[in-house]
Amino acid sequence: MKERLRRFMEGRYGADELNRFLTVCGWVLLIVGFILSGISNKVTVAVGSILVALSWAFLVFSIFRALSRKTQERASENYKYFVYKNKVLGWFRKLKNRWQDRKTHRYFRCPQCRATVRVPKGKGKIRITCPKCRNQFVKKS
Ligand SMILES: [Zn+2]
Repeated sequence: MKERLRRFMEGRYGADELNRFLTVCGWVLLIVGFILSGISNKVTVAVGSILVALSWAFLVFSIFRALSRKTQERASENYKYFVYKNKVLGWFRKLKNRWQDRKTHRYFRCPQCRATVRVPKGKGKIRITCPKCRNQFVKKS
């Protein structure tokens, strides 16, 4: 049986990080969808069935990727997933940092290049120099 599976998977893409993500998302959507469908209310039943359909799309896509023989294309999808995931994680990290030093620092956006500038709080009116484009602007910290 193991040998048969091994031969079946030969030349196929198999599991990767994106597939794990798709599988987890699929199961979560499926469970939430079932719970919502169980509540006798028109809206929850409708939303529940949409989630169940969506969960199938996730699961079928992950199986399709695992069995695919176009390994290069699948690898590039996985890479794109990593880039996107890091962007999202970075955004959350920034938000967390901002929340942590909300009492000691203020954040401003450079009016010229839109870069975020972090300055100590409670210094009154200050002239801020953007570290990215050297543009100066005055703000009350
Ligand atoms: Zn700037």
